[in-house]
Amino acid sequence: MGALVYAAFSAYAHQLQHENPTRCFWMKMPVHYVHHKYGMWHHNFGLAVDWWDHVFGTYKLVDWLTEEELNRPQRGYLELRWW
Ligand SMILES: [Zn+2]
Repeated sequence: MGALVYAAFSAYAHQLQHENPTRCFWMKMPVHYVHHKYGMWHHNFGLAVDWWDHVFGTYKLVDWLTEEELNRPQRGYLELRWW
């Protein structure tokens, strides 16, 4: 049951970071969004949480919140493309 809930949460967190990264309030920096935005092929592998990047030493903090993110329209937590 825990694995199923974690898989669903990971899927949600992944899509949220692609579509609306500023809403990912439970991480200081949305690691998956930053992973793609800055082409970090050796850092920030997390999807749902950033703990594992801290554990394995792959966490890399960057100043990610730019005009690009701030100028996006505000949308709700569930306004995602589910399929
Ligand atoms: Zn992705």
